[in-house]
Amino acid sequence: MQPAEIQYVDDHHIACDGGGGALGHPKIYLHIKDDTGKIDCPYCGRNFVYRAAYGKKSAH
Ligand SMILES: [Zn+2]
Repeated sequence: MQPAEIQYVDDHHIACDGGGGALGHPKIYLHIKDDTGKIDCPYCGRNFVYRAAYGKKSAH
């Protein structure tokens, strides 16, 4: 088992297709909510973190 891959993004609306290969899946669109600042892809398990929300939290 590999640890979940974290992708830092600059937009609330993202698309994930698993990046191809063994983890590839049909492209889906995900929406990052403001209250969590992150979302997991239900297909490949990648963690998408909204960069602005992450920076705000770590800077404090
Ligand atoms: Zn995915």
